[in-house]
Amino acid sequence: DQDKRNQVYLDKWVEHYRTYAKEGQCASYIPALEKVNPSQLGVAMVGPDGTVLKSGECEATFTLQSISKVISFIAACLDFGTPYVLDRVDVEPTGDAFNSIVRLEVHKPGRPFNPMINAGALTVASLLGGRSSLEKIESFLIFFEKMVGKRPSINEEVFQSEWQTAHRNRALAYYLKETGFLESTVEEALEVYLKQCSIVVNTEDIAMIGLVLAYDGFHPIRREQIFSKEVARLTKALMVTCGMYNASGKFAAHIGLPAKSGVSGGIMAAVPARVSSPDSPFPHGCGIGLFGPAIDEYGNSLAGSMLLKHIAREWDFNIF
Ligand code: GLN
Repeated sequence: DQDKRNQVYLDKWVEHYRTYAKEGQCASYIPALEKVNPSQLGVAMVGPDGTVLKSGECEATFTLQSISKVISFIAACLDFGTPYVLDRVDVEPTGDAFNSIVRLEVHKPGRPFNPMINAGALTVASLLGGRSSLEKIESFLIFFEKMVGKRPSINEEVFQSEWQTAHRNRALAYYLKETGFLESTVEEALEVYLKQCSIVVNTEDIAMIGLVLAYDGFHPIRREQIFSKEVARLTKALMVTCGMYNASGKFAAHIGLPAKSGVSGGIMAAVPARVSSPDSPFPHGCGIGLFGPAIDEYGNSLAGSMLLKHIAREWDFNIF
């Protein structure tokens, strides 16, 4: 039947695009990421009725890294209201690398350009609900659990290495502290941000978050509005314009889905119901989670992006 055929297609595509992983490399700035097997490729797609279609190394675990920037942004909007958050972080793409420092001084008073780059994510981490870094990371974990249905763990090895090598992030945080955009201490913002980056997930976990975004903040399986439609749309616009680092333009042009990547090789994408083709396995939209640890020059999963492009084309998921 059709379900079996879709599974056969997906398995075939995964095996095909896995061969492209060779053209990329695992992130090498910390040992925990560098030692991962680069030829892995996995995908999970979750529909609103809980149907899951998955293939490849879809059960492999990896750390959220920059995908966490989407979650912290939504959590901050929930805690403080969108106007408060947007006063402290803009919604303009930069075209620069995610950890770039250069633009902070270009437009006074130095408001970070968007919450998907490190400067913006550090600002958002500093204003998450809670008085201490412990309470702030707890707000993040509680919000994650609401969407994914399980309390995630933090990879201590990744966190420790991130913490010890976070010189550029520390520089960004000090700059933001000086200009008044950091609401906590530098060390607190770094701890929250690097802990959220070190949260352990698999492809299905991030597909669930993509699904809630696809449904404008409504959790179709729990049947509960978790965040507002306004926040969901703002977040998806940010994903389209800034979610794939400085390859976001190419990603929008050639794939056409709101998506967010992380340097550990994860990609989360949201397929809204109204663009999903009736001939696809998910006529009512879905969330997609991919994992392929070999990344390209921008920091996006190489095989993961190619597989997502193929899926979006075959099943007509492009939102444009
Ligand atoms: N944790 C790393 C950093 O903040 C990488 C985040 C990412 O996925 N780009 O620099």
